[in-house]
Amino acid sequence: MTDAGEEAERKMRFLFALRSRGVTDARVLQAMERIDRGLFVTGLFADRAYEDMPLPIACGQTISQPSVVGLMTQALEVTARDKVLEVGTGSGYQAAILSLLARRVYTIDRHRRLVREAQTRLDALKLTNITAITGDGSRGLPEQAPFDRILVTAAAEDTPGPLLDQLRIGGIMVLPVGQSDAVQSLIRVRRGEHGFDYEELRPVRFVPLVEGVAPD
Ligand code: SAH
Repeated sequence: MTDAGEEAERKMRFLFALRSRGVTDARVLQAMERIDRGLFVTGLFADRAYEDMPLPIACGQTISQPSVVGLMTQALEVTARDKVLEVGTGSGYQAAILSLLARRVYTIDRHRRLVREAQTRLDALKLTNITAITGDGSRGLPEQAPFDRILVTAAAEDTPGPLLDQLRIGGIMVLPVGQSDAVQSLIRVRRGEHGFDYEELRPVRFVPLVEGVAPD
């Protein structure tokens, strides 16, 4: 088969896997079709970039499973007017997808190296509405708050208070909650006029949310 033929088939299989695991939102599928996951996985595992599995990245972290990225993005109900905060930049893959759906994306990671490498990839893709920042995302990003949407891609034992504070009224936050070495729950929080509404979506497994900025 030609290279173009192989690529088309790989893309079709990738999208089929997403749909069969419950990613049905057309805008999310379109964004995931446009962002090539192969650009976010380097080294030993590069040839597995189109499989529906989490893969190791630098600093002992992981790029999430594509179907989980899709389900989380879908659950976040992002609109083109939204200012979004992502906690846990990692490879930058999730941020790239969010940037096609939102007005503005801020993404924060505690590893300087991951932020630097992610920013390089995002710049190469000309995704100009994303800013990647090194910092402790468990404190949110007060200087840009409030956010219409917040997505956390590392698991905390409980929803971090600063993130709740930085969610706009009418806003939505999606995050994994639970002990890091056990199965966690994906939670959706909606902020109403009078308080927060919590909904449990599905079991997931993420690396832990660790406080403080990493030394590297
Ligand atoms: N969304 C990423 C995958 C994230 S893996 C992607 O698309 O590739 C989880 C990330 O959360 C890791 O990179 C880890 O460094 C980061 N992280 C953990 N605790 C954090 C904290 N307190 N603040 C910011 N980032 C944190």
